[in-house]
Amino acid sequence: MSSWKFDAEQERALQLLRTSRRFLLVGHVRPDGDCLGSQAALARGLEGLGKQVVILNADPPAAVFDYLARELPFAVHGGGPLPEHDVAVLLDFNELTRTGSMAAALARAPSRKLVIDHHPYAGTPWWDACFVDVSAAATGVLVWRILAALDAPVDALVARAVFTSLVTDTGWFRYSNTDPETLALAAELVGRGADPATLYGRLFQRRPPGEPRALAAVLARLEYHAGGRLAVADQPLGNGGAPALDDGDPLLDLLRAVEPVEVVLYLRETEPGQCKLSARSKTGFDVNRLARQFGGGGHVKAAGATIAGTLPEVRARLVRAAVAMLEGDGAGQAGGRA
Ligand code: 5GP
Ligand code: MN
Repeated sequence: MSSWKFDAEQERALQLLRTSRRFLLVGHVRPDGDCLGSQAALARGLEGLGKQVVILNADPPAAVFDYLARELPFAVHGGGPLPEHDVAVLLDFNELTRTGSMAAALARAPSRKLVIDHHPYAGTPWWDACFVDVSAAATGVLVWRILAALDAPVDALVARAVFTSLVTDTGWFRYSNTDPETLALAAELVGRGADPATLYGRLFQRRPPGEPRALAAVLARLEYHAGGRLAVADQPLGNGGAPALDDGDPLLDLLRAVEPVEVVLYLRETEPGQCKLSARSKTGFDVNRLARQFGGGGHVKAAGATIAGTLPEVRARLVRAAVAMLEGDGAGQAGGRA
């Protein structure tokens, strides 16, 4: 099932997986479908090879991922010591701070650190081994290549998990990262038991009843800038008396679909004096570059950051930075792909 050529670094990562026994699979805070799907698929595959595996995150999976969480335990780090492990596998991120409350314990742990990821990284490598391909549509694609290389058994759960990764990070095969490998892999996964209609229903047709009103409250604070090329909305704590908007994706999708909009910024006040940014673009505008100016990161077309400051103040700073990039001499344009 594998015809992949691996580079020396990837071969080292595979060797570490082959020769180690106890694994801790760690995701990022508020793990998304790519992160959870990657963890589930790798856990099932490694267990099939006789390895001992614990999945541990700072936050529990969102309710829509119950079809994965029912079959594998997704433990939540409560601040205590980490389970004994030889290798910590870090999936779908490349900075320890993205593990939230687990960062210090992971840094202290004597285990080897293996990063499996598709995000760009500009800093100095801090890990012992990595399996990285920034051209991969999802981290789940990399886990699939790894399982193939290890000759790990693949069942319908692995197929559903990797399919979850793919559809999460490609916007159900709509984004520019949807490539031949993505679609060929999707076909293979459907053949192995991932049912697209069932998974679409589970992931996208179980929205909370309060969501439309939550969305309406946030949309009431929508503003356009730069001649309509930039759309900005935010959610203060309490959402002005409306239900909380827990998932920003429906809002981001809606605003990105507006004709002149190239960039969408959505800010959520997470606690007094702290805001979470979600940024999206539908052109070459590099929201990763924007997010990095605020201490965050991500991809060209989807990025985020956690930013200190009040909502109006952070919003004003972000708008200034984004408008400057939009109206600059193409400075926001990324050379590569999302
Ligand atoms: P979202 O807006 O869905 O939270 O995140 C979109 C993308 O931005 C994801 O690829 C995620 O990895 C990245 N991202 C979101 N928040 C942060 C952050 O605080 N720091 C970094 N480095 N990346 C982030
Ligand atoms: Mn991802």
